[in-house]
Amino acid sequence: MEIKQVGVVGCGLMGSGIAEVCARAGYRVVVGEVNDDLLQKGLDRIRKSLSRAVERGKVTQAEMDAALARLHGTVSLADMADCDLVIEAAVEKMEVKKAIFAELDGILPPHAVLASNTSSLCVTEMAAVTRRGDKVLGIHFFNPVPVMPLIEFVRTILTSDETMEIARRFGESLGKTMVTAKDTPGFIVNRLLIPYLLDAVRLYENGLASREDIDTAIKLGLHHPMGPLTLLDFIGLDTCLFIADAMYEEYKDPRFAAPPLLRRMVLAGHLGRKSGKGFYDYG
Ligand code: NAD
Repeated sequence: MEIKQVGVVGCGLMGSGIAEVCARAGYRVVVGEVNDDLLQKGLDRIRKSLSRAVERGKVTQAEMDAALARLHGTVSLADMADCDLVIEAAVEKMEVKKAIFAELDGILPPHAVLASNTSSLCVTEMAAVTRRGDKVLGIHFFNPVPVMPLIEFVRTILTSDETMEIARRFGESLGKTMVTAKDTPGFIVNRLLIPYLLDAVRLYENGLASREDIDTAIKLGLHHPMGPLTLLDFIGLDTCLFIADAMYEEYKDPRFAAPPLLRRMVLAGHLGRKSGKGFYDYG
């Protein structure tokens, strides 16, 4: 099966990046949002990201124009009827993802592969609301998608070898390096990352050190590109909380229990960079 057209559901932080890399790789892309306002914001984010890539000499102006010409926005999943692969990148909530999977299953052609970019939720549960469980997998990109070289594939007990091979060729066409994990919350990267980020919030919450010192210690002491509180702001505190809650729900391990401060910051709308304020202010 050759993928010609890719659907991306959700044009937020991740969906816009996924749509961009697919369009840059030569696929026709249909990207969906819940309303016109959010769709325009998402498409603007893609244009800005491509312009930055042109400024940095990573993409030519002609390549940017060609990528944008391959990209179409919609507020109706019915417009994905000709897609060979759809990647769902909506909010990290199982009910939302299951509703999208069930609707797409009725819209997509029988050969189409359905993937979720979920960070922590059970992909098997999404597959179970479709009649194509063998064609469902997790394709987990990293933020920012155009820059980060990794894809984690999540294989459920239903996913066929053929689907894994289609996904592998797709990942290769995007120039990404791929790893495969079983369908357990957090897969490889978040299983290790989330307890570390939650511990950083606990240190800050307990007054062990200032936010700047926690971040500087990890940057310079472990040579990470950014400290954990900066990284939390970058990922989105709401997304991290959803992931932690999903992992705690599955494992009941206190390492995955969200610290009270994280939950309160999300309730207060301090979501990190995307809301202008998180552990730091972004004006
Ligand atoms: P986000 O909040 O930036 O974007 C989600 C978008 O989905 C929003 O714009 C929302 O309007 C849209 N949406 C919600 N319901 C929809 C529907 N029914 N149809 C179409 N669009 C819908 O969140 P994000 O950070 O882009 O995360 C999206 C997914 O990617 C989540 O599952 C998250 O766990 C995963 N993820 C996030 C990161 C990260 O670093 N933020 C990394 C890897 C994976």
